Amino acid sequence: APAVVAERLGKVYRTGAGEVVALHDVDLTVHAGEFVSLIGPSGCGKSTLMRLVADLEQPSAGALRVFGRDAEQARRAQDYGIAFQQAGLLPWRTVRGNVELPLELTREPRRARAARADELLDLVGLREFAGHHPHQLSGGMQQRVAIARSLARSPSLLLMDEPFGALDEMTRERMQSELLRIRERTQAAVIFVTHSIPEAVYLSDRVVIMSPRPGRVRQIVPVTLGAA
Ligand code: ADP
Ligand code: ADP
Repeated sequence: APAVVAERLGKVYRTGAGEVVALHDVDLTVHAGEFVSLIGPSGCGKSTLMRLVADLEQPSAGALRVFGRDAEQARRAQDYGIAFQQAGLLPWRTVRGNVELPLELTREPRRARAARADELLDLVGLREFAGHHPHQLSGGMQQRVAIARSLARSPSLLLMDEPFGALDEMTRERMQSELLRIRERTQAAVIFVTHSIPEAVYLSDRVVIMSPRPGRVRQIVPVTLGAA
């Protein structure tokens, strides 16, 4: 099954001031193993779409399948990893404890979990901070911890909402290459929200442009020019 299929997906937020249409009639398919970037102006619904796929919000209309399951089943099966702009780390846990969290529902022994967490922290260059607590880290470092955590269960889908937003230029470039390597190895599908068109073009198989006008989803589909 494709990683994600959204059909005529809609989301309306009800607030004290009235209704906000965040998504209207969005159709989008992300294939298994595909790297799709989502770009579009602030407020066009990118984060809402990510939260719907992650089952953190419920759609108001339309259908959503994640690997052929509904979003709730996919969440229970832990089919995906999440790295959002707000790292969302547990403050009372160490860095290692945060990265280990997704592994605690597995039957892996404690020692193996800690080893796996350290391996992931190596990957994002934060091994030496394993025993620190999140508040002792900069925003960019916290984002890298969240990225490590999102990879803990080798998910077949990574949901990344501006995961590099707080990183300095050099670290961002390093994380971009790391992400491409990880994906090469795991064949994970990725949905990646970014404000940077160059970043989207550099990383993705396909760039999806969400428009502020309801229902408009356009795409940049790369073509191969000639033979090398
Ligand atoms: P983007 O990620 O593209 O900036 P969002 O998905 O965050 O867009 O927001 C889409 C629209 O929904 C915006 O108008 C935003 O103000 C509104 N919105 C987002 N989250 C909420 C919420 N929890 N309650 C009410 N309105 C919201
Ligand atoms: P574990 O000890 O298995 O790692 P947790 O990380 O869930 O357990 O919790 C560690 C400590 O933090 C516990 O004492 C728990 O009561 C406390 N705690 C749990 N939830 C919260 C929360 N939302 N805010 C602050 N502290 C919490």
